[in-house]
Amino acid sequence: MAEYDYDLFTIGAGSGGVRASRISASYGARVAVAEERYLGGTCVNVGCVPKKLLVYASHFSEDFEDAAGFGWTVGVRSFKWSKLIENKNREIERLNGIYERMLGNAGVEIFRGTATVVDPHTVSINGKTVTAKYILVATGGWPVVPDIPGKEHAITSNEAFFLESLPKRVLMVGGGYIAVEFAGIFNGLGCDVTQLYRGPHFLRGFDDDVRNFLAGEMRKKGVDLRFNANIARIVKKGDVYLAELEDGTEIETDLIMYATGRAVKSRGIGLEEAGVELAPNGAIKVDDYFKTSVDSIYALGDVIDRVALTPVAIAEGMVLAGNLFKNQSRMADYEDIPTAVFSQPNIGTVGLTEAQAREKYGAVDIYASSFRPMKHTLSGSDEKTFMKLVVDRASDRVVGFHMVGPDAGETTQGVGIALKCGATKAQFDATIGIHPTAAEEFVTMREKVPDDAGRQAAE
Ligand code: NDP
Repeated sequence: MAEYDYDLFTIGAGSGGVRASRISASYGARVAVAEERYLGGTCVNVGCVPKKLLVYASHFSEDFEDAAGFGWTVGVRSFKWSKLIENKNREIERLNGIYERMLGNAGVEIFRGTATVVDPHTVSINGKTVTAKYILVATGGWPVVPDIPGKEHAITSNEAFFLESLPKRVLMVGGGYIAVEFAGIFNGLGCDVTQLYRGPHFLRGFDDDVRNFLAGEMRKKGVDLRFNANIARIVKKGDVYLAELEDGTEIETDLIMYATGRAVKSRGIGLEEAGVELAPNGAIKVDDYFKTSVDSIYALGDVIDRVALTPVAIAEGMVLAGNLFKNQSRMADYEDIPTAVFSQPNIGTVGLTEAQAREKYGAVDIYASSFRPMKHTLSGSDEKTFMKLVVDRASDRVVGFHMVGPDAGETTQGVGIALKCGATKAQFDATIGIHPTAAEEFVTMREKVPDDAGRQAAE
């Protein structure tokens, strides 16, 4: 008889947990996964997938406007939020079903409920105790709202996907991925959106030109973007909310959404009792092979607080499955992770920002361009696209790629491969462009931005 009930017991059926479980099972491991909420985790249920559907929905308002320049007369327009949410929910249910079948077909047993670690090889779920050679914790994260008076009146992205009706005015707090994406969604759907960011410039960590450019485009589209602004207190007055800012300003609104980061979900499931070390913010400490301080317990995905992106969790899951059940000894590769922000317009980026490249390489060459995309020569829209390459002067390698424009993520995915291969600027230049596309700009940029600190590439 086997020593343990399972070879692997995964806690959390999100992107990372599902991938690790499924691939482990395909390698012959006996696997079970526990999920207390929804199969597919944040990404499928209250993240990437429904977010992108909402971005599509919100973009139609501009598409209708743009159509006129191409000879179309668009009739009376109306938008029904409840219809969008209903259709979105149906699609998510379909995906939940696919996840369930995918796990089942791979031979992974699914437990519905909250799993708790009892000891390094034992998990308790719904009053049942099971044993496993390895336990994998992939419990992800949860949005956090800072502790301010009236915080109970604010929603987070979790609730935004299920609002009963579309508010007239929205106050968005935060300056990261989720805040800019939802500011764009609500703005496109016709709400009056004010976005507050506590610091001097939002999207910390992104290239400065990208941050400047996106701020300009969002403002042109009507988002009231305010920096150095933060809420001190929220008061409910009848059906509306009054946000009192730290500088004394007051903003009346119908909905306050906080997108101020996510906390890892690692407490209350027996980890510390079992000897698993956590960082002060709760992140599970793991080594290069995702092993925690307890030999038989592993963790990956958002809960280890490295890179909170679905494709990264999936890559980590692949690595772990191979290491545990296919005699591999690999580490995850976190170099040159391409990423997109589904702001309006989108951001796509891979590699280093200009500032990071200057710090790492010293001398760098910058190629940057902003232009009106061809579509808008007829549409009349004043939306512009921005592109930038950061090149290490000594090796001629392209070490950073940045774009703000329609479908920037699509372009970035391809260029990400080039960066991963160590492509040089000369190789970019030797690549034939596809005409007419916006992406061809990346292989036709010849003029270096003058090396002067006062330049304004993103003007
Ligand atoms: P982020 O960490 O990206 O951004 C949080 C924002 O809130 C920052 O601007 C931060 O400011 C601000 N903030 C933090 N604490 C406070 C506070 N107490 N008061 C006011 N502002 C505060 O988190 P998100 O919630 O936007 O997203 C979480 C993660 O999910 C992302 O980092 C990303 O990894 C992932 N994600 C990826 C997406 C994609 O791939 N398209 C889409 C959505 C999410 P400061 O910069 O000053 O710290």
